[in-house]
Amino acid sequence: MRRITLVPGDGIGPEIVSGAVAVMKAVGEKFGESFSFTTVDAGGCAIDRTGKPLPEETVQACLDSDSVLLGAVGGPRWDTLPAHLRPEKALLGLRSALGLYTNLRPARLYPALLSACTLRPDIALKGIDLVMVRELTGGIYFGERGRRETPGGTEAFDTEAYSVMEIERITRVACQTARKRRGQVTSVDKANVLESSRLWREVSHRVAREEFPDVEIRDMLVDNCAMQLVRNPSQFDVILTSNMFGDILSDEASQLTGSIGLLPSASLGDGSRGMYEPIHGSAPDIAGQNRANPLGTILSAAMMLRYSLDLAPLADAVEQAVDRTLSDGLRTGDIAAQSETVLSCTEMTQAVIDRL
Ligand code: NAD
Repeated sequence: MRRITLVPGDGIGPEIVSGAVAVMKAVGEKFGESFSFTTVDAGGCAIDRTGKPLPEETVQACLDSDSVLLGAVGGPRWDTLPAHLRPEKALLGLRSALGLYTNLRPARLYPALLSACTLRPDIALKGIDLVMVRELTGGIYFGERGRRETPGGTEAFDTEAYSVMEIERITRVACQTARKRRGQVTSVDKANVLESSRLWREVSHRVAREEFPDVEIRDMLVDNCAMQLVRNPSQFDVILTSNMFGDILSDEASQLTGSIGLLPSASLGDGSRGMYEPIHGSAPDIAGQNRANPLGTILSAAMMLRYSLDLAPLADAVEQAVDRTLSDGLRTGDIAAQSETVLSCTEMTQAVIDRL
């Protein structure tokens, strides 16, 4: 029995998480696997109940489980609280408590949704199927920062720092991911300017050469990568990059595929346990109306089956059912063209289950 902790969170979180749970139960039944689910609070709902965005019992439940599925946290009700009480604190707290230093974000353009792609049709037709591997707990977001007085006035600084160990472990994740795909890693940096990027290049090439001779690794400067993503995204398989570059490039890549309601993500550490969540937020504008697209969360559950639970056949089945649902023309409001029938969150979930 695999133990899954559910953190539905706020807004549409509970609706989309219950869709993903229904799909996991259905695929488990089909393949003779069973899951136990424990639901805990984090984010705004936890603030309302306990006064804290991340109660200790939530952290403990996540630590006690095989993996974590999260909906989304936050909303206008909690926007005016002081920084240490903001719902987003729950995400950072969970990442650090679970030791999650990698963020994996696939960006895939579904042939059935070609018209939703923001690129010229001749570029979109070549396809987009890439995974962004972003370092999650180092770099400038965690480096030394502050303000200081200089003869010219006040200045502020943030520091980008990466250790050999941090670069080695994230490179291994990127190479392992590439091995399960098309075997190509593009390592993105700013080595023409930054010393941290020069170390990044040295270490990532050494790890790839010594441990993954079957994986092809090439370098690309971040400014060029931002351009290549809109010019010819079909060239990318796995993109390996630092925390800040990954933050920016993964949003760019996700927008190319049409709807943020469709995209999953995984945060991973050294063990098999991970935290899986759709890339979108809590969508307060449609919360409680049964209108949310559950596919990003359902595909996050598929990633969990593959990466944390070692149940690749179940992951394949869920991903193929989502493919079929989309190619059969079924749509929620966020991806529907004007003339298309719009399904509710629960109807879309059922459509996926019917195609398993
Ligand atoms: P959002 O992603 O919640 O919504 C942006 C737009 O996309 C909205 O119009 C929304 O209706 C739509 N949308 C998002 N997900 C959808 C889905 N599954 N189906 C259909 N439509 C969908 O971003 P936002 O409005 O900037 O943020 C709302 C709240 O979410 C804020 O409090 C923000 O801090 C929080 N947030 C949380 C996370 C997270 O928990 N990981 C991530 C981003 C934003």
